Amino acid sequence: MLQAFARRAPSISVRARCLCTKPPTSPGPPEREYVQPSTEEKSALKILKDEFRPLFTGEAVGVEKAVPRRTDVLIIGGGLVGTAAAYFLKAHGEMFDVTIVERDYGYTRASTMLSCGGVRHQFTIPENVQMSMFTTEFLKHYKEHLTVLGQDPPHVDFHHQGYLFLAPENRAQLLLDCVKMQRAQGAKTVILSKAQLAEKYPWMNLDGIECASYGTEGEGWFDPWQLVHALKGKNIQLGVRYCQGEVVKFRYDSVPLYTSGGIAEKKRILGVDVDHPDGKRYGCDAAVIINSAGPWAGEVARMAGIGVDVFPELPVEPRKRYVYTIHCPDGPTLDCPFLIDTSGAYIRREGLGGNYICGASPSEEAEPSIANLDVDYEFYQEVVWPSIAHRVPAFNNSKLKCAWAGYYDYNTVDQNLIIGSHPEYRNFLFANGMSGHGVQQGLAIGRALFEYIYYSKYKTIDLSMFDFARFAERRPILEQAIV
Ligand SMILES: Cc1cc2nc3c(=O)[nH]c(=O)nc-3n(C[C@H](O)[C@H](O)[C@H](O)COP(=O)(O)OP(=O)(O)OC[C@H]3O[C@@H](n4cnc5c(N)ncnc54)[C@H](O)[C@@H]3O)c2cc1C
Repeated sequence: MLQAFARRAPSISVRARCLCTKPPTSPGPPEREYVQPSTEEKSALKILKDEFRPLFTGEAVGVEKAVPRRTDVLIIGGGLVGTAAAYFLKAHGEMFDVTIVERDYGYTRASTMLSCGGVRHQFTIPENVQMSMFTTEFLKHYKEHLTVLGQDPPHVDFHHQGYLFLAPENRAQLLLDCVKMQRAQGAKTVILSKAQLAEKYPWMNLDGIECASYGTEGEGWFDPWQLVHALKGKNIQLGVRYCQGEVVKFRYDSVPLYTSGGIAEKKRILGVDVDHPDGKRYGCDAAVIINSAGPWAGEVARMAGIGVDVFPELPVEPRKRYVYTIHCPDGPTLDCPFLIDTSGAYIRREGLGGNYICGASPSEEAEPSIANLDVDYEFYQEVVWPSIAHRVPAFNNSKLKCAWAGYYDYNTVDQNLIIGSHPEYRNFLFANGMSGHGVQQGLAIGRALFEYIYYSKYKTIDLSMFDFARFAERRPILEQAIV
């Protein structure tokens, strides 16, 4: 497919035309100097010198001071999804020039870093089960995949612990059906009856519970920060360029479209403009652009005219979620699963010192403002604590220690992944909208993007049903196990 993209990507003649075009009419804030992608004609010698300069000067290869003027694959957002996509593209060989543009190297608001790092195989859609199972498999061997020559192996701190989904009587059949499907995918999920639950978890209040599903293998949680940094280190070794900056604008040109009625003009995406911390705005041409901007993916898509000039919009928006850390000296210890209560509240242990993290999603009507990442402590007192203390009475004697908030990359239509090309702009790819399960899907999504670009189809897990076209065709794919 890269060849197909390359055909649509700026050809030499188009680039030559770019040389003659005037700067865009609105190049952004007046104080920013605009650096066009192709204003300076580089000689082959200068290109070679620029490419190899880091080797001679000792600068870190891959960490760019400025934005390249062109690249094969430009990835917007260096969270887990963008980082994983770059890894699989480069790990496959040298054929792609891959650039990640990330505006915040501290990842202070990135969904990945503010997540709980949970991996479960308990979903209601087979492809979601398969994606999480791939993460488990990758994490079994991550040191082989990600160790950088001459450096200590990375450590992602994977804790093996099953999720426990509790079900009341009216949800029991759904749970049974899901476990059957999960097991058919190879997941090690089992059903525990009320009697089995009582025996296994004597500290749990089982009022209103009929049964539960439990992951006996492969589920747990890891440190997403460590995984992203391990991937980033490997990416830099593999030659991925990292550019600090914010994508602020898309640039287009048009190509002739031959139709039965004659020749029409077809608009296509040529590249993006990036605001760099040096105060300048750089243009960068790209054959393929991946939107992996997490909670801001809808905003980036709008920047490209999606939902403005072409419809429908990308239905992804930030939704604020809180995570509370509590201490409970008498709480459950090693046998504490990643517990998902019937109320929607969840709790899991954090280490072994009587610490836990917990939270819940608010109702649709009570969605908090996304203006900032302030924590709502009343939500804990009024919603989360009563639920977890009802289910595990020991938590009545717990103390809130601290809390944080992060943004879900929320798909407002069906709370599921959106992946693949935009129907109109074929070189613009999405990998968005996982709505709270992107950390456990990020690696599989990254691999899928590589397959989609390289082979023009998904080779391992067929994710074609998660395409953008489903919104125009009104075929939502509803995942029912959203926490
Ligand atoms: C509280 C919480 C708990 C969670 N728990 C889990 C869990 O247990 N398990 C699980 O699987 N998932 C969980 N998630 C969801 C998961 O974190 C996300 O689905 C996943 O991290 C999304 O990864 P991403 O790379 O797409 O987005 P991000 O990690 O948000 O990365 C996107 C990046 O894009 C950058 N960016 C945005 N716009 C631009 C631009 N214009 N130019 C340049 N850069 C830009 C941002 O700075 C950001 O770094 C949780 C999320 C939250 C908030």
